[in-house]
Amino acid sequence: MTCTTGILCPDLMDLLLRGGTLVTCDPDDRVTSGSLWISGGRIVALGADAAALAIRSGHPLRVLDVEGCAVIPGFVQGHVHLCQTLFRGMGDDLPLLTWLHERIWPLEAAHDPRSLRASADLGIAELIKGGTTTVLDMGTVRHHDAVFEGLRDSGLRAVSGKTMMDAGAGVPAGLRESTAGSLAESDDLCSRWHGAEGGRLRYAYSPRFILSCTEALFRGCVERARSHGTLLHTHASEHPGERVAVRAALGMDDIDALRAWGFAGPDVVIAHGVQLTPQQRRVMAKDQTRVTHCPSANLKLGSGIAKVARMQRAGIVVALGADGAACNNNLDALMEMRLASLLAKRFGDTGALAARRVLRMATIDGARALGLADEVGSLEVGKRADVTVIDLSTTHVEPWGEPAARIVYAAQSRDVRHVVVDGRVLLHEGRLTTLDEDEVRVRARAEAVAVRRRAGITT
Ligand SMILES: [Zn+2]
Repeated sequence: MTCTTGILCPDLMDLLLRGGTLVTCDPDDRVTSGSLWISGGRIVALGADAAALAIRSGHPLRVLDVEGCAVIPGFVQGHVHLCQTLFRGMGDDLPLLTWLHERIWPLEAAHDPRSLRASADLGIAELIKGGTTTVLDMGTVRHHDAVFEGLRDSGLRAVSGKTMMDAGAGVPAGLRESTAGSLAESDDLCSRWHGAEGGRLRYAYSPRFILSCTEALFRGCVERARSHGTLLHTHASEHPGERVAVRAALGMDDIDALRAWGFAGPDVVIAHGVQLTPQQRRVMAKDQTRVTHCPSANLKLGSGIAKVARMQRAGIVVALGADGAACNNNLDALMEMRLASLLAKRFGDTGALAARRVLRMATIDGARALGLADEVGSLEVGKRADVTVIDLSTTHVEPWGEPAARIVYAAQSRDVRHVVVDGRVLLHEGRLTTLDEDEVRVRARAEAVAVRRRAGITT
């Protein structure tokens, strides 16, 4: 049975993406013409023979014609905050610590489960529409089940955790927690959500950053993450002003203190790393600590520009991430790729973060950073079918070019046609299948007004 009627087909049918350019991001970085056959949520064949194999198998088959499109691994974003999507436009043009103290913390403290779910749904809708299939998400302190429920219902793959804050100046009462209470609430969330939805959802212990967390909290997270097999996720080495405050408080840099407390290694993802010294880069490479580069957020909050090429040369796995909509203001992987590549060329080396390299950062390197590279991040037989299809025939992408360059330098998120996670089509011909986009936007607007009122923000 062959079906070409799109969204009427059940999710459980095999899927054939027929006739595209496959940009695999596999170990050989192969780019080839052909089709991609998905069965049981996994890639079972790709290339010139895949269509014939799929048809010969006799399996019920849903066919999407992707002629003129690039078929790529879905984007993996190594640092986002779904809880902040509702705050888009509420904290613009401020430096990091002012932005946090005067806007983000009061707004996060004002979240209730309804506003948090609305925030997550708006972010998830934007992510899927832009071709992202996996995120590492840091939540707010309370109500984090609402984020996981949004992730569960949407079909997006995610590693997520409530943020943890047991110290710090200026923390609103609604976000302040005890060390034991924070760890206990995280443990509960981990037990409910780590490995849920067939492994599509995973937990990450996520102390916010060193100025709002005690040493005991960081050590407690390390102990639990190592015992449960989860990731550890925090912010560090972000803004020059933050570095001054950290040195005044601890007498050393955050990255060195974290390492002394055991918060280092291949299961640790550090967002930013803008202020890293050469010595710190060498040590992080040796430890295999991961970094997520967030170029838009770093520029907008005045943090500076991370030395990504130097991190990679040192041997650090670097992922890409949009950070939150309150400091970006989009969650657009294509925009972050283009910006990362252009910023890397600022010293005159036009080969720095070339298109193929930055596309790998946004896919397989992101998967490596999240410990998921055996499952996602490239188009390879046996991997889970997390796939993004980008139309290369649009006016601003035509007429020519190497596929990775067309994607990184010319394509825009509106060119994303289909998105597949675990073999399930979440975006079909640019339309969300698991979320009602109009309803999500209307609900987000109403909840944004309410949360802003609760936070007492009037400007
Ligand atoms: Zn962040």
